[in-house]
Formats: sequence, C-alpha cells, structure tokens
Amino acid sequence: MKKENKKHLGRRQFLKKCAKAVCTGLLLSFVEFKNVWAKQVGNGDKSAERKYAMGIDIHKCIGCGRCADACKKENKVPREPHYFRTWIERYIVPIKGEPVVDSPNGGIDGFPELKGDKGILKMFFVPKLCNHCAHPPCVQVCPVGATFTSRDGVVLVDPKYCVGCRYCIQACPYGARYMHPEKHVADKCTFCYHRITKGLLPACVEVCPTKARIFGEVDNPTSPIRRFARLHTITVLKPSLNTEPMVLYAGAEGMVR
Ligand code: SF4
Ligand code: SF4
Repeated sequence: MKKENKKHLGRRQFLKKCAKAVCTGLLLSFVEFKNVWAKQVGNGDKSAERKYAMGIDIHKCIGCGRCADACKKENKVPREPHYFRTWIERYIVPIKGEPVVDSPNGGIDGFPELKGDKGILKMFFVPKLCNHCAHPPCVQVCPVGATFTSRDGVVLVDPKYCVGCRYCIQACPYGARYMHPEKHVADKCTFCYHRITKGLLPACVEVCPTKARIFGEVDNPTSPIRRFARLHTITVLKPSLNTEPMVLYAGAEGMVR
C-alpha cells in the first residue's frame, strides 16, 4: 500500500515537472520572440533606453481634426467611423449641470457649431490616443504576448501573433484600441513608430497647425517635450489607475478623463 502511494506520488511529481518544463519552454519562446521583434522594429538603432512622450496643450487645440485625418492616412486606419488611432473630443460645459462630450466622426470633419449656446460656460477640445502607459493593462492581459512594450517604451501590437481575442480592447481604460475589421487583429496608435525611429515626428504632430501636439524624447533635455513639461502644469488621464501614461496634457481639467 505504502509502495503504491509512493509510486502514485512519484507519477504526480513527474507530471508536475513536465508541466513546469512546458510552461518554461513557452515562456522562453515568448521572451525570445519579443527580443527578436524588438530588434526587428528597432532596426538595431540607437534609440534603446530612450522613452518618448507626447504633450497635448488643450488651450491650443482648435478641434480642426487634421491630426485624426493625417493619422488615418499615414497608418491606413479604416475610414469608417468608430475606427481611430487618435480622435478629438469636444467638452461642452454648461453653466449648470454636467459637461457634455461629443466626437462626431472622431472630429475629423471638425465640429458643428453650437446653436442656442447661451447656457454654455465654456467649450474645449481634447485630442486622445493610446497613452503608451508605462504600466499597460493591455500588455498584462494579452495571452500570447502579441501586445508588448518596445525597448524604448512604446506599446506595440504584433499582428502576426494577435489572435483577435479582444482582451486588450476590454482592458484598456482609455478606449484606445479597436479590432481591425479586415485584419481581425487589435490595432491602435504606435506613436508612428515607423517614423519616430527614423527621427521623424508622428503624423498627427507634424500636421497640427497650432502646435497643440508636441513630441520628443523624455531623456533629452533639449527636446520639445522637456520644454513643454517645464512650461506647463502637466496632468495625465485617469491618474488614479497608476497606468503612468506617456501622453501628457496641459490645461486638462479634472472633468477630462
Ligand atoms: Fe487640435 Fe492640432 Fe488636432 Fe487640429 S490638428 S484638432 S489643433 S491637435
Ligand atoms: Fe494599452 Fe490603452 Fe495604455 Fe495604450 S492607453 S498602453 S492601449 S492600456
């Protein structure tokens, strides 16, 4: 009897060891894949260790929507409404009551004029996009490692590995992701990674006529984003979530979420 128990335990331990070995193998292959991908998209460039950030000055945004349009063109985002890597929200704050937020077609075509605006205290525009969080919930929930943080701090999706489970879309507290209707993979802003790694600006920053969007390297003391941070009181969206966004807002009031 004792012998049988011993034999049984031995088999259980053996199975446990096998499961552990398989898990370790899978983990290693993911780590390996991520390293390969990081090298591939980084082109072995000198950007390692750099962290990018975008600044948005709400006082300067006029809601023209050029940024959202340029983003769609640059990144081949489907033209239909509801698919955006970046979009503009308009906050209409009444004298009494709660603010109303609208974003017709993501603000690409601008915003309709307000009629009967006597009861309105103020109105402003808030461009939004993926925050490239330092602690990204989307990366944590992805079961296959398709969503990951590059070595220079940009949150990316590898479409080759995405299984379209939508976990990341549900996990993102900023509504920054969508399911691509043709590719059936999760999609979102990459900070125009293909451009910034060549020293170019993201398309949305390049076209903004009022310089409401600023972009640069956080570690470079001469970069525009450092100047932006020096000159403004900076806030991030939903700070209580501790996601540590890399999109920094100037002029965002508490009602902006
Ligand atoms: Fe605002 Fe600039 Fe975008 Fe126009 S292009 S909506 S001003 S951020
Ligand atoms: Fe992920 Fe959303 Fe944060 Fe972007 S904003 S890194 S999609 S959790």
